[in-house]
Amino acid sequence: MAAPGTAQSRLNQVVLVIAADMVAEVCSIYVRRAGDVLELFATEGLNPEAVHKTRLRVGEGLVGHVAAQATALSLSDAQSHPDFAYRPETGEEVYHSLMGVPILRSGRVVGVLVVQNRTRRNYTEEELEALQTVAMVLAELIGAGDLVNPSEFYEAEGNATLPQRAEGVRLADGVAMGIAVLHRQAIEIRQLVAEDPEVEARRLSDALDLLRAQVDRMLARPDIASGGEHREVLETYRMFAHDRGWISKINDAIRNGLTAEASVKRVLDDMRVRLNAASDPYLRERVLDLEDLAGRLLGLLTGGPEPAARELPDDMVVIARAMGPAELLDYDRTKLRALVLEEGSATAHVAIVARALDIPVLGRVDGALAKIAAGDPVIVDADNNQLIIRPGEDVVEAVQLTLAARAERKAAFAALRHMPSITRDDVRVNLLMNAGLLADMTMLGESGAEGIGLYRTELFFMVRSQIPDVEAQADLYARVLDQSSERPVYFRTLDVGSDKQLPYFNHRPEENPAMGWRSLRLTLDRPVMLRRQVRALLMASAGRQLNIMFPMVAEVAEFDTARKLVNMEVARARRLRQRLPSQVRVGTMLEVPALAWQLPALLDRVDFVSVGSNDLLQFLFACDRGNPDLSDRYDLLSPAVLAFLSHLVDACARADVELSLCGEMASRPLEAMALIGLGFRRMSMPAGAIGPVKAMVRSLDRGQLSSYMRSLLNVPDHSVRDRLLAYAHDHGIAI
Ligand code: PEP
Ligand code: MG
Repeated sequence: MAAPGTAQSRLNQVVLVIAADMVAEVCSIYVRRAGDVLELFATEGLNPEAVHKTRLRVGEGLVGHVAAQATALSLSDAQSHPDFAYRPETGEEVYHSLMGVPILRSGRVVGVLVVQNRTRRNYTEEELEALQTVAMVLAELIGAGDLVNPSEFYEAEGNATLPQRAEGVRLADGVAMGIAVLHRQAIEIRQLVAEDPEVEARRLSDALDLLRAQVDRMLARPDIASGGEHREVLETYRMFAHDRGWISKINDAIRNGLTAEASVKRVLDDMRVRLNAASDPYLRERVLDLEDLAGRLLGLLTGGPEPAARELPDDMVVIARAMGPAELLDYDRTKLRALVLEEGSATAHVAIVARALDIPVLGRVDGALAKIAAGDPVIVDADNNQLIIRPGEDVVEAVQLTLAARAERKAAFAALRHMPSITRDDVRVNLLMNAGLLADMTMLGESGAEGIGLYRTELFFMVRSQIPDVEAQADLYARVLDQSSERPVYFRTLDVGSDKQLPYFNHRPEENPAMGWRSLRLTLDRPVMLRRQVRALLMASAGRQLNIMFPMVAEVAEFDTARKLVNMEVARARRLRQRLPSQVRVGTMLEVPALAWQLPALLDRVDFVSVGSNDLLQFLFACDRGNPDLSDRYDLLSPAVLAFLSHLVDACARADVELSLCGEMASRPLEAMALIGLGFRRMSMPAGAIGPVKAMVRSLDRGQLSSYMRSLLNVPDHSVRDRLLAYAHDHGIAI
């Protein structure tokens, strides 16, 4: 296999050797090229003239099928398979049986290796294993870039030395600038086959001991040791390091004659393909945990450097295809400025940990690793979903100014932390913050928020592999209350479904998930879930005030049913002589417009109402909040929205019911100004928005503004944003 010569001549030898070893008449290698094309690169048995001429699309023919599915195929009668595609130039019509395996590199199919026989032959498991092992070697050969330029795999556009811009998705807020560090350099496996399986099993067991010790050290770090969901994520990860199923699969491969490192890689390749094919996003994300651990294990087995041991720049931006949470912690937090991922989602574990550590993350940047070279300067503007690679001097200067201005503003807002949130004409506006992770709670003191106006309890459910029991929930809620130091916390009951899926819950595909079986609808249909959550909240709030808020209530009857469940749990706790909260307040979010037409009955029953403007907007305008083509279509600052909210403010004031707003609308100073003008006195927003909104509140004369706002409710405009901007400008309001 270690034949000398060019990559092409090595391929030619490989096909010869394999065909002979497997007693196959044909052995061919197809390499994937730009445009999702598989090109025949070498063959023993097919017409040699077809080499570099026969091309199949991924998905076309049996070879294309193997590439598209990223799974092996073994057929005794290939021609009767529906995907069989006949290519006359190859002369393959005489071959009946076929076995093909994908050539995988970092989870991507870079080629296909095929053997064929004239007879109808059933290939054995061992033969399949052997072919897969060869495919592993070929993956390295193809990845080395001698056959096809690796940039072809990514179809990188443009000149690699010119500045480039790429789009991504914000997974953790922030803007940062630094030098690119490519995460996880590929580990080369020099020896695949071993003489003595016992030696290999011992090597594996020693490396696993070291790996577990590494993970333990990571969990003991001071910035991680304190509890929180990020800690839970890492605990799950520790479980993986002890997972018997995983370890026994590696040992099986060792028994089949592979070295320990080749076995780890083989098992990883298999799992990667299987988990990537899963439709469940949670399972797909587990691939990252596994890759992270397997990567470490390979490093330990091959003596590769730990990422932390590499010489790294003082201001680094790490670029990775994907990453597990523990890998992030390998990097020195004081040097790590930002993270760029080719994959990733907001619920990815790495994103949760990054947010807890305040590291900006830009995800889903297509081909980032192909576009960026190690050492390239990059600017990550996660707030605007942008990545700038090799920026020009003028851009660097502009971003430096922006970063300095941001730092200055941040310091100015921090100075406001202890100042009251009060308008120039002495009207108090309560500013609370939204939270969903224990890690967010530290921001309560730092931001100067007066409490937690929205605690999204579903995040705790989403990062786990099974539904948390009552004790685990109660423990979390009690810690939230402990950390709130007497400030009010509004716990929203489970708001899952739509874009927030639970990994262990069977969410059926829906045509309109935002309007589907979600949120309170789901928990009313599964009352045990809701009762257990309420039970946990009651336990956690013993002797303290408890605020329970229901999401997505569409009618008073739903609220009544949910409230009854709360009453039943209170009665149960009383029966069991548990210590009750000092006060139980129950309220609703207002996200579904129908509820606004039942206000007299609703306001009679609730202790508070909180407007969820994110959902409300999409339902008011019948406009999907997740559709990028519609993101600018309607404006929050439109007469329809303002009139709707004004009606609500008046009704709540008449009924003397507490009203707040906890959607993103409250976090932008201009929108928050409009809300105050309408009569809102209470808003909840992400912690980072408290400073800017408080600066706006303190520069505002509420009396003047409300008369102006009233004049805008009936204008026929698409939006009153420009008018409000001009008003703020003319009246010296800090927005
Ligand atoms: C809202 O809809 O405004 C809201 C706060 O809830 P979420 O964004 O969690 O759906
Ligand atoms: Mg909502």
